[in-house]
Amino acid sequence: MKKDEICQKFLQSVGKILTIDEPLAHHCHFQIGGPADFFFRATTEEELLASVNFARQEGLRFRVIGGGFNIFFDDRGYRGLIIKNEVSSIQLQPESYVEVLSGTLLEELIQFCLVHSLKGLEFLAGIPGTIGGAVYGNAGAFGEAIGDWVESVKLLTARGEIKVVDRDYLKFKYRSSFLKKTKEIILRVNLKLSPGERDSIASRIKEIRQQRRAKLPPPSLPCGGSFFKNPVLPNGRKVPVASLLEEIGAKGFRVGGAVVSQAHANFIYNLGGARARDVLALASRLKERIRRRFGIELEEEVIFLPEDA
Ligand SMILES: Cc1cc2nc3c(=O)[nH]c(=O)nc-3n(C[C@H](O)[C@H](O)[C@H](O)COP(=O)(O)OP(=O)(O)OC[C@H]3O[C@@H](n4cnc5c(N)ncnc54)[C@H](O)[C@@H]3O)c2cc1C
Repeated sequence: MKKDEICQKFLQSVGKILTIDEPLAHHCHFQIGGPADFFFRATTEEELLASVNFARQEGLRFRVIGGGFNIFFDDRGYRGLIIKNEVSSIQLQPESYVEVLSGTLLEELIQFCLVHSLKGLEFLAGIPGTIGGAVYGNAGAFGEAIGDWVESVKLLTARGEIKVVDRDYLKFKYRSSFLKKTKEIILRVNLKLSPGERDSIASRIKEIRQQRRAKLPPPSLPCGGSFFKNPVLPNGRKVPVASLLEEIGAKGFRVGGAVVSQAHANFIYNLGGARARDVLALASRLKERIRRRFGIELEEEVIFLPEDA
């Protein structure tokens, strides 16, 4: 089917316009990626469901993204439909439960918790992205992770069914959840928080932001956050990957427009005009050096989406 025929069908079925050949570099913080055949911004849960169901019915490859803070795209773009999830709302429920639609920004969630004096999520301060992206990758910092606060999640399954699952189903691990395997779509997240003292929540948020400013490169630099996960040794000990990278002198390593930050060895950023192939080549060079020096196999935390994934 031709691109404009698909757009016509989408308009009839979803009632919205699909964008053709949208540059994906505009939709990830890394600013890397060629054009997506089709692109759609979902702003309601109905639109999110309808666009995913449309892609499945038409046999169109698709991927739901949130803020694009943990992903970069192929230089050739994406042969399918990228759905940007902007479905956002937060509702306070009895007994300190909070229901969050999956496209809600973490920053809005933190502000909501502060206004309602709910404690628990302060560690998320400064982590960019949506709650959907955060649950998918079990985002966290300072030894805490979002999975610890998730009570249940409403999902759209691969068969197009909607189901509510509890935390056990999600099998949260360090920067990972079961959803990385099932590819189910997160629609809503239900969090169980605790009542707190507004001033102490505010000062904890401030403290976290200060620590991030002191430790990490400026958040405006185009990147995907920490590039590699901290490796876990056979004895269960987690090793800070940044220190391993420093030992091999990685700071300043560069391939094309991709460079390892001088401020933090686990941040690869786009100097301007970096291609996905630059980042991939730089990452594989770093992995090779770490393998040779320490016998450790690094695993990427930042996601690369090939054009046909
Ligand atoms: C400067 C900077 C600092 C960062 N600091 C941290 C940090 O301290 N800790 C940390 O953990 N991360 C950090 N990150 C990474 C990033 O902020 C988190 O991974 C965040 O959770 C990504 O959310 P997102 O909405 O941008 O997801 P995206 O990057 O848009 O997507 C990431 C993955 O989630 C999937 N996904 C997104 N939404 C859904 C959904 N609704 N249903 C199913 N799958 C979905 C996508 O398909 C993709 O595979 C940082 C990133 C940057 C740029």
